[in-house]
Amino acid sequence: MKRILVTGGAGFIGSHLCEELLNRGNDVICLDNFFTGSKDSIRHLLDNNRFELVRHDVTKEYFIEVDEIYNLACPASPPHYQYNPIKTAKTSVLGVINMLGLAKRCKAKVLQASTSEVYGDPIVHPQKETYWGNVNPIGIRSCYDEGKRMAETLMFDYHRQNNVDIRVVRIFNTYGPNMDKNDGRVVSNFIVQALQNKDITIYGDGSQTRSFCYVSDLVAGMIKMMENEEGFNGPVNLGNPVETSILDFAKFIIELTNSKSKIVFLPLPSDDPTQRKPDITLAKEKLNWEPVVNVKDGLLKTIEYFKNVI
Ligand code: NAD
Ligand code: UDP
Repeated sequence: MKRILVTGGAGFIGSHLCEELLNRGNDVICLDNFFTGSKDSIRHLLDNNRFELVRHDVTKEYFIEVDEIYNLACPASPPHYQYNPIKTAKTSVLGVINMLGLAKRCKAKVLQASTSEVYGDPIVHPQKETYWGNVNPIGIRSCYDEGKRMAETLMFDYHRQNNVDIRVVRIFNTYGPNMDKNDGRVVSNFIVQALQNKDITIYGDGSQTRSFCYVSDLVAGMIKMMENEEGFNGPVNLGNPVETSILDFAKFIIELTNSKSKIVFLPLPSDDPTQRKPDITLAKEKLNWEPVVNVKDGLLKTIEYFKNVI
């Protein structure tokens, strides 16, 4: 049994990660400031005596003795991370410095939830870990993209300079139950709109692509990365390589929900990546990991979840 700290543990991915780590017999400390996370997503874990919930902001130091740290604290949806961009940058940069300092002091392993956004609006397609990206340093997405890039830099500098045992995963668009219905991401927006027979809002012409990974697959990959004992630090892409245009995705959601919704086209936000698809060769080789949930099954489970929350 290990004692494991999960920052951002009350968020969408964090709540699933906490549950899985508990299922595997670990002690889990969930740290969150509830900016985008909620107690509802972890309420079912509160009775477990191996689970602790701490209200804390990761930009401030935190002292505890743990074996492993999963650093997920950071808003992930564009409207949320753009709401207070300076805070987003602080959360990524100061947050990772605090977690790396903690890892250094208690000799814990630390895994950073990085993102496909480090590739920006990628010119190389699909994206491999060796691609350095095409990121606007001064745009509306930069607080998140550059914050996460700096976090990766700090991870590798603490590793080289202080021998901290680091793991970096680059997460591609992930979806599933416990997503916040108001968080503004495409999966939650389209499903909620479709279930309410409201207009489906496509930004731009819908030709931009994304590749969607079900949350249980992602969590399995994160844990495999933390547990690999071959000195593999990453970065490694974790995502589902099945690519779809946003227009086709909207049509698919309408079909799966049997909705009467119409599609409407709204302006495309600036710097919205035109294409995104992970190359997961490295994850297959190093972690023996690949997604097992197909997009239709994952979406049906997610639709059931949203039916209950709206
Ligand atoms: P989320 O917004 O649901 O969860 C983030 C959690 O972090 C929330 O519970 C929030 O309250 C907490 N948080 C934010 N700022 C904090 C702070 N300063 N101190 C403490 N807690 C703080 O997002 P998510 O989708 O669960 O994403 C989790 C992590 O995975 C993030 O780091 C995100 O960048 C990364 N990621 C997610 C995706 C995705 O598709 N969901 C893709 C790439 C990367
Ligand atoms: N998007 C959309 N309608 C919405 C929400 C998002 O067309 O209601 C688009 C968005 O412009 C982007 C894609 O869907 O091209 C994925 O958006 P999301 O915010 O989920 O994540 P991103 O991958 O852009 O960070």
